[in-house]
Amino acid sequence: MSKGDYANKGIHTRLAHIGNDPREFFGFVNPPVVHASTVLFPDAATMAARNQKYTYGTRGTPTTDALSSAIDTLEGSSGTILVPSGLAAVTIPLLAFLSAGDHVLIVDSVYHPTRNFADTMLKRLGVEVDYYDPLVGAGITALMKPNTKVVFTESPGSNTFEMQDIPAIAREAKARGAVVMMDNTWATPLYFRPLDHGVDISIHAATKYPAGHSDVLLGTVSANEACWKRLQETHFTMGCCAAPDDVYQVLRGLRTMGVRLERHEENALDVARWLEGQQGVARVLHPGLESFPGHDIWKRDFSGASGIFSIVLSGGGEREAHAFLDALEIFGLGYSWGGYESLAVHVFLGDRTVAKGDYQGPVIRLQIGLENPEDIKADLARGLAAAAG
Ligand SMILES: *Cc1c(COP(=O)(O)O)cnc(C)c1O
Repeated sequence: MSKGDYANKGIHTRLAHIGNDPREFFGFVNPPVVHASTVLFPDAATMAARNQKYTYGTRGTPTTDALSSAIDTLEGSSGTILVPSGLAAVTIPLLAFLSAGDHVLIVDSVYHPTRNFADTMLKRLGVEVDYYDPLVGAGITALMKPNTKVVFTESPGSNTFEMQDIPAIAREAKARGAVVMMDNTWATPLYFRPLDHGVDISIHAATKYPAGHSDVLLGTVSANEACWKRLQETHFTMGCCAAPDDVYQVLRGLRTMGVRLERHEENALDVARWLEGQQGVARVLHPGLESFPGHDIWKRDFSGASGIFSIVLSGGGEREAHAFLDALEIFGLGYSWGGYESLAVHVFLGDRTVAKGDYQGPVIRLQIGLENPEDIKADLARGLAAAAG
């Protein structure tokens, strides 16, 4: 059975077998971690023509090929580049498809460092940047200009989890010649496959669920056939390649990502439902809850939910938010997510221009880890009691 045969198998079968073929490396189950700059050529003619599979460490190794090919199977993409962080997975495709004089539309609920990159680097390079309402849907048409080259989406949105109508946005944006990109970190390719819904380029902070243990930084960018060449050329031009040990760790993480995600989903939904009934909680911002405004889109397009969502405290400000966080014993106070452990952070929404929301109290983002849900709930109850006191 060749690697391609796994494309039609169940997701857990795929996760267990995609990427490397053990028979290509003496039968060892896992691929070698190739540490490489120089690759030798057998003779001058081969060297001059660079006529062999691998030519230099920055341009791919058996280790990077194993992960790229695994991600391609999951995303249904023509090619995947691996970069040293999730943020680089955002910046490299934007640089690949935008030039001076172009216009980019970015969703207002975007991951903050993406906004920072657009507001500083892209603007300095002469790119016009506008932010749009995550609920815009087909209305994106009205915001597009003749020079709109990229529409950047992220669904659900960072921190407040607004669901975007990705098929409608992709259809309208592509009809007007723009490349559609999506930061798909929240869902992973297990719960949403952007290219199946009209997106051209799917972006992941593999730092999160694929790595899964809060110890690796990595980004992946997957493109359809139309966008792959340009993305790959930019990757080579920038020299922004990922390190072999990190690539290996993410491939290792993928093997268990399916079972981890199922538990994250189950724990998070259980805790989210419980939180809906707690005093001191005004709202729970989780797309998988029937009470959430974007629930219908989530149900239509996504096949699951990961372990991160937010709560809105009923009133109060920074003092109450800090009291909540400081009372937590199991939850760590930290950025990032997707690891095995629970994390909490007081969300800052001051950079928003459109999707400001109307939140009656502080917004606290929770990553629900693999701990026992009763312990997680008891910890959150401590936080809520402290915020109320
Ligand atoms: C964390 C995150 C990133 C950036 O990933 P890093 O590896 O931490 O740079 C990008 N997009 C989203 C949505 C994220 O949550």
